[in-house]
Amino acid sequence: MKVLVASALILVGSCATLRHSEKIDNLKNSISYDDEAVVRKYLNTIKPDELKIHLEEVSSDKYNGRMTGEEGHNQVCDYIRNYYKSQDIKAPDSHPDYYQKVPKNVLPDNLNDSQNIIAYIEGSEFPDEYVFISAHSDHEGIIDGEIYNGADDNGSGTAAVLEMAEAFSIAVEDGYRPKRSIVFLHVTAEEVGLHGSRYYSNNPIFPIENTVSNLNIDMIGRVDPRHEDDENYIYLIGSDRISTELHFIAQKANSAFTHLNLDYKYNDENDSNRYYYRSDHYNFAVKGVPVIFFFNGEHEDYTKPTDTADKINYSLLTKRAKLIFATAWYIANSNERLNPEII
Ligand SMILES: [Zn+2]
Repeated sequence: MKVLVASALILVGSCATLRHSEKIDNLKNSISYDDEAVVRKYLNTIKPDELKIHLEEVSSDKYNGRMTGEEGHNQVCDYIRNYYKSQDIKAPDSHPDYYQKVPKNVLPDNLNDSQNIIAYIEGSEFPDEYVFISAHSDHEGIIDGEIYNGADDNGSGTAAVLEMAEAFSIAVEDGYRPKRSIVFLHVTAEEVGLHGSRYYSNNPIFPIENTVSNLNIDMIGRVDPRHEDDENYIYLIGSDRISTELHFIAQKANSAFTHLNLDYKYNDENDSNRYYYRSDHYNFAVKGVPVIFFFNGEHEDYTKPTDTADKINYSLLTKRAKLIFATAWYIANSNERLNPEII
């Protein structure tokens, strides 16, 4: 009798499992690009030499390590918004100078007022749904007389967002306006405690409930010791924690266009580094917005004055930016809004 009960339970269990795996298969199979050649055309406008120009600019000594609230960081913010102006990528109506002021009363003591930068391309069919691509613009300033350039952290993310914005903008000129709006967000005060993104998520310019996804970039220009022998990789963190569909969209983007090894080591909820909680996507995740954190892992120059632009791997940075672009393209152009559920 006991044996029978046990096998009945096994049967029930395996049926349930089968149904779940069928659901997963159906979801995976439903994800396909309408025209991969079109995506590839604009993805290929993301170029190493252009990424290098932006990265070398934002990480140059003249900005004194971009400490939140200091003149050097303010000047970098000006460089970023001037780029959007030059590309005719618009500011939100409510913030026509591209800046969302982040007041010093929400920042750690002794820091001055700062700002997030927001630019966006309006969607053609669902303009009130927003796909966010973000990176923090600040770094650690000058410590003991040494400039912390933060080329990887986060010159790499900053440059990638600017290049992706240009790629989407070129597509718009050619008649491929995204169906949903795409928002380019450069947050401040990450290094001092994720304050810029927290301020944004508590004071959103576009409604959080219509924020479809946040693809956040923090360090994608280097190789960590774990991948010295095969640098064709990127860590994805958080992609399956809120939306199963988002997880598979990133995988589809990669299999269609970039063929990187997607490393989920740090997505493990028990990982002691707790990276999921340590960059700006987290402030979107706590509001229920599906997120992916794109990351290259730590390396010998992480949070050191030696994190300089000459050490960036620009071809790898390009490939990783293309993956994020292709992921954003899919989310912005699919007929159905991203399903914010775990399946
Ligand atoms: Zn960072």
